[in-house]
This record gives sequence, structure tokens and C-alpha cells, in this order.
Amino acid sequence: MIANYHTHTPRCGHAVGAEEDYVRHGIKRGLKALGFADHTPYLFPGDYYSDFRMRPEELPAYADTVRRLRDAYRGQIDIRLGVEAEYYPDLFRDTLSLLRENGVEYLLLGQHCCGNEIGFPHNNFPTDREEDIKRYCHQTMEAMNTGLFTYFAHPDMLGFTGDDGVYTRYMRELCREAKACDMPLEINLLGVEDNRNYPRRLFWGIAAEEGCAVVLGCDAHRPEALSVTAPEEKAMMLVEELGLTLVTQPKLRSIL
Ligand SMILES: [Zn+2]
Ligand SMILES: [Zn+2]
Repeated sequence: MIANYHTHTPRCGHAVGAEEDYVRHGIKRGLKALGFADHTPYLFPGDYYSDFRMRPEELPAYADTVRRLRDAYRGQIDIRLGVEAEYYPDLFRDTLSLLRENGVEYLLLGQHCCGNEIGFPHNNFPTDREEDIKRYCHQTMEAMNTGLFTYFAHPDMLGFTGDDGVYTRYMRELCREAKACDMPLEINLLGVEDNRNYPRRLFWGIAAEEGCAVVLGCDAHRPEALSVTAPEEKAMMLVEELGLTLVTQPKLRSIL
């Protein structure tokens, strides 16, 4: 691994460690590029707020911290400022403006809920309903078509427990769209490390058949996650076994 663009900070409420420690562990790993992509703030209506993302008022300090580290470590490691964002159709434009105003350079697509989040469960909750996988795929395909996302983080996060044939049909459509949009798909190393429901082998078999580009993302929620290599080795076995096309340095799509 020479670049990791999926790094969190304690601002999301479920990650630990100082930003600089993430940088140190990235350097220890030998990374040439390190992107911070904490869970984006979102502009929700009314008094609703989700508990797994920074608040809008925390964004300026987040951006300042990352830029300060970028300057301090220039020449050693290329530090970038991003966020991991859901695509919520009714709220996306205003949130995007907020991110741009704060100089956020890039977005990863991490679709943790569907709809506009309010009233929708987390996408890794088990479901066997076809309408749920249909909604997930159509919403993320719409997201890819904005052309604003650098890559699609844990595209296989959906906890679909229904028929494999139904899963394959929808995920093939998603993978074809990713290919058409030139959108790399991320094998999520946190999922590997934690034995989560992703990476899901069935999904990556489809991605291989469709010729999708694949990236590895640490999804680091603690600094040490950037310097351990066991999850990467395990993920590489999947890449090699299935003949996936690995991209080690994805091209950042600037939103500025
Ligand atoms: Zn997280
Ligand atoms: Zn993440």
C-alpha cells in the first residue's frame, strides 16, 4: 500500500487518537499519500442529527488541523483533506457547498443509510427485502453519476441476507455503473480486520467479472490501523484469487 485515503478522526465520535499519530503511523507504513476522510458533517432539517459524524461547526477545525499537518509533513507524505460522505439527494447540494467553503478537496462515497437518512436504518443491518437492495443500488448509482466521488468505500456494506440470485442481479448493475463511471470500489480493511459482513466474497466475484477497478482503504478509526499489514495481506489474497484489478494510487477527483 502506498496511499490510503480513508482515515477518520475522533470528531466522528467513534474513532480514537490524535490526527498527528495517524500521520506517524502512515509514515511508518511507508505511505506516500494519506487522506483524511472523516464522516462528513451533514446539514439536516430541524433538530435531527446522526451520532456517527462530526457536526457542521466542527468542520473548520478539522480542515485546519489537516492543513496544518499537510504543511508540517510536506516532502515526507502527501496529506489530503477529504470526507467520507453519504449521498442524500435532498441534502447533498447544501452540504457540498459547506464542504467546498471549508476547502475539502475530495469525497469518498460511504453510503451508511439510504433515503435522506432520517427514518432509514444503517445499511449493514440485516435485511432480506428486495426493495432495500434496490434502493441501495439505485441511490449509490445516482451518487456515482454526480462525478464528484473519488471512490466508493465498502460498496458491499449492505447487510442483504436474501437470495444470492437477487443480490447478484442488483450488484451486477451497480458494478457495471461503477465501471461506466470509472469509479474504483474499495475493499475495506476495517471490515477484514473486524470480520464484518464485508468484504463479501460474492460481491467481489461480480466486481471481478465486470472488470471493476479496486482500491484498498484502511478505514482507520485508530492510528495503529495504518501501520498493521495483516488486513492488507488478507485482502490481497482475495484480489489475487479473483483476479481483481488493483489501483494503488486512485486519482483524486477534486470537488473544489
Ligand atoms: Zn466510522
Ligand atoms: Zn470510513
